[in-house]
Amino acid sequence: MSKKAAEMTFVDHNHDHNACRGEAVERAELICAQRSVRLTDIRKRVLELVWRGHKPLGAYEILDALQKERSGAAPPTVYRALDFLLEHGLIHRIESLNAFVGCTDPETPHRAQFLICEKCGTTAELNDPRIDAAINDQAKAVGFSVLRRTIEVEGTCPHCTEASS
Ligand SMILES: [Zn+2]
Ligand SMILES: [Zn+2]
Ligand SMILES: [Zn+2]
Repeated sequence: MSKKAAEMTFVDHNHDHNACRGEAVERAELICAQRSVRLTDIRKRVLELVWRGHKPLGAYEILDALQKERSGAAPPTVYRALDFLLEHGLIHRIESLNAFVGCTDPETPHRAQFLICEKCGTTAELNDPRIDAAINDQAKAVGFSVLRRTIEVEGTCPHCTEASS
């Protein structure tokens, strides 16, 4: 990946995150309108919470935040909203952290690969079809049928690397 692409993938720690979140919600509204599904208040609020930062957020943290705003928010409500957002590719589940992160390219169907910073928790997604194709080819070669694939890579993001050098 070129330096430029890496910079775009890993946002600076003091970037204008309100703009990111606003854009993500706008995009979600557009996608839902195109698909004639409803981005209800609760779905939208859960999406905003997942987009609280670029760090994956667990279901309990989301529920906690929501219950502070609406005392009646029950776990099934949050899980249903998360399922909806996952189904429409607006968020991804990070299996190793059992947490959720907003998708940065929800218009394009993809199986993302994730780069997770161990220091600050920032997670970026790669969307490289070559990785997917390589897994398919190799699995096929040994007669294995792929059901799920989750690629999560841990390391240090460019900002944390810079800060520690
Ligand atoms: Zn941001
Ligand atoms: Zn994505
Ligand atoms: Zn970092």
